Parts: sequence; structure tokens; C-alpha cells
Amino acid sequence: MGHHQGAPMPAGIRHGFRARAHPARSVPCPHEPCHARAHQACIVRVNGRTLAKLHPSRIAAWAASIACCPECQVTPGTPCHVNGQQMAGVHPRRIQEAQVTLA
Ligand SMILES: [Zn+2]
Ligand SMILES: [Zn+2]
Repeated sequence: MGHHQGAPMPAGIRHGFRARAHPARSVPCPHEPCHARAHQACIVRVNGRTLAKLHPSRIAAWAASIACCPECQVTPGTPCHVNGQQMAGVHPRRIQEAQVTLA
């Protein structure tokens, strides 16, 4: 009579992130007329197709929400500014900063 030792297979091991979604997907897209909701892919409104990448303004909005800007020294949640004027986007270094913050 063999002693059966049922080594349980570790259940529930998933393959982690499939396509490594961009962290900026966690915020809604401010791009006109995309306005993808949080955790949804950006879309092209004219044909309804989803984009593989996110709109740059969405990445900027995400970076602004989580990172300080090394360029204009603002805190998370505050838009970038140049010469006292609010920028439309963010400084590129702030996006790098946001990516470093997550890593
Ligand atoms: Zn978008
Ligand atoms: Zn800035």
C-alpha cells in the first residue's frame, strides 16, 4: 500500500499582468473627445476603435495626480506652470518622475 502524499497544486496562480497596462489607465482620459473612463482603454470616437496607447494628455493628468514636478516644483494634484501660467500639459520630467514613483 503506497503512501499517497497529495502535493497540492498551487491553485490560483495567474499570469500576472497580461499586457502590462499603463498605470495612467487608472485615471479618466481628459482628451477631447475620447473621455475614456478610468480603467478603460482610450478610444477613437469617430470609429469606436480602442487605442493601444493612451492619449498623452491622459498620461499627463496621471503624472500630475501622483508626482511632484521636478521642473516647476509643484506637488501632486497641482498642474504644472510656466512663468506663472498654468500649462496645458505637464513637464516631461514629471512623467518620468511618476514612472519612477511607481517602480
Ligand atoms: Zn484618451
Ligand atoms: Zn512642471
